[in-house]
Amino acid sequence: MEDCLFCKIVKKEIPAQVVYEDRNAMAFLDINPAAEGHVLVIPKNHSKDIFDIPERDLESLIVAVKKIAEIIKKLGYENFNILQNTGKHAGQIVHHIHFHVIPRKEEDGIFIKFPRIQTDNNSLEKTLKKLVSSSSPKEKPEYSFAKKEKPRKNEKDDWEELDW
Ligand code: AMP
Ligand code: ZN
Repeated sequence: MEDCLFCKIVKKEIPAQVVYEDRNAMAFLDINPAAEGHVLVIPKNHSKDIFDIPERDLESLIVAVKKIAEIIKKLGYENFNILQNTGKHAGQIVHHIHFHVIPRKEEDGIFIKFPRIQTDNNSLEKTLKKLVSSSSPKEKPEYSFAKKEKPRKNEKDDWEELDW
């Protein structure tokens, strides 16, 4: 795509620190890394997001993500955030699909946190119904709706133990 920054990197029209390249995918250092070794992995063909990308490009892309994580792991990293932002409200700035591979270590000052809502079986089942009813017949899970379980005696304690 003509005006796409990442397509320009693929075509070598603008420079990038390319870490990995194969027939379908490419990986380069993020220009504003969250940590040393923060890599972006992209398909060579332009697709703007998860909905747009053909499945075979997506398969190659996720395999390349694994390769990048393995390369970085050899430098001694065991922990990663692998992120894909879809749409502007999710923080997508460059509209050529990409995965962020961010190596993590203890107390590295990176905060990737989201709030956790306390919920119950009824509300989870309502959500499940909505999702399953919008899926196509062959995507429906074999078992659809969770059996209602009596709350365990110590359920409250379980909630309190979790680190929100
Ligand atoms: P996102 O917010 O998920 O769309 O992430 C876009 C990422 O692209 C950001 O982390 C930017 O730092 C990164 N970025 C923007 N321009 C370049 C560039 N020319 N080379 C490498 N990374 C870039
Ligand atoms: Zn593009």
